[in-house]
Amino acid sequence: MPESIFGSTLSELSRIAAEAGLPTFAAKQLSDWLYRKNAVSFQDMLNIPLRSRQWLSERYSIDAPGPVKATESQDGTRKYLFPAKQGGFVEAAWIPEGKRATLCLSVQVGCKMGCLFCMTGKQGFQSNLSPGEILNQYRSLPERDTVTNIVYMGMGEPMDNLLNVLASLDVLCSSDGYGLSPSRVTVSTVGLIPAMKEFLERSRCHLAVSMHSPFEEERRRLMPVENVYPLKEVLSVLRERPLARQRRVSFEYVMFRGVNDSDRHAREVAKILNGIRCRVNLIPFHPIPGTPLAPAPRETIEHFQQELKRRGILTTIRQSRGLDISAACGMLSTRELVRLGGEQE
Ligand code: SAH
Ligand code: SF4
Repeated sequence: MPESIFGSTLSELSRIAAEAGLPTFAAKQLSDWLYRKNAVSFQDMLNIPLRSRQWLSERYSIDAPGPVKATESQDGTRKYLFPAKQGGFVEAAWIPEGKRATLCLSVQVGCKMGCLFCMTGKQGFQSNLSPGEILNQYRSLPERDTVTNIVYMGMGEPMDNLLNVLASLDVLCSSDGYGLSPSRVTVSTVGLIPAMKEFLERSRCHLAVSMHSPFEEERRRLMPVENVYPLKEVLSVLRERPLARQRRVSFEYVMFRGVNDSDRHAREVAKILNGIRCRVNLIPFHPIPGTPLAPAPRETIEHFQQELKRRGILTTIRQSRGLDISAACGMLSTRELVRLGGEQE
């Protein structure tokens, strides 16, 4: 199967152009065709000499498959299922909010991190998405032109597929690519430290860190990653390298009833975040089958928010969107489809 050229960064396109015997500026022309004009075939690229178009089409394809399934929530959120090259599917969610629309992207089929409360985690890990597969969830989204913000909060752990994630961010945010401002893009992670450091150096997008508990023992039970990269160390990395003004660090905190929703937790969260310019996003837990965890009541979440605010922490409560179609945070999973796909083969 020819390699896909869709998803290539400008520097990769320069290499390809050189191999095709094209002048240096042809990389920009290719980029323009791929990411601005949304070309589906090399034959469309009329400013590229015919012989080079031929050469390119013998070696490369432009893979940008549309979604195979769409589901719409009562609240207007739409969930799309995209096929992954190495088998299985990933989901992307389009979430309209007034004048804004946020696209939630996936980076892996499944996930290795095994968080207790996450549907994708339950699915196990199947494969990494390529930069093209990550970007295609934007490129081939029917509502693409309405998207104002992008969050890497779908299936998978971005820092566990860092190079492909960075390449996708490069294309999204470069003026030769989709030209989105990095201040409109947020990447979420459980805090894989080496990759997170590299992300902080090589990208200008916002960072979200999944915290879920300020206490080591408790976080370990919710998120096995605490055994390898403790939150304490993640926080010292963030303390050591304050981000540029335009850049934001936020902490995601999913609220579980009777587990992490007490005043003691709020006090500790405020304490450990001392000295880090950040905000906290409280996320209502979206129950999934097979966990003993339950969602914290709305009043508890609001009280927790007040406790954090009282201690000077900017805190918001994330609205649950797309619950009825399982498009909300942590509910994305295509295990069933993976299984059915496997049976059909
Ligand atoms: N792997 C990354 C990004 C994808 S998950 C991460 O974990 O940060 C995006 C967010 O959804 C994370 O903060 C995650 O903890 C949260 N999440 C996972 N399962 C959830 C669930 N069942 N209900 C609510 N939020 C959930
Ligand atoms: Fe993976 Fe994030 Fe789900 Fe944890 S919460 S299993 S890191 S996708």
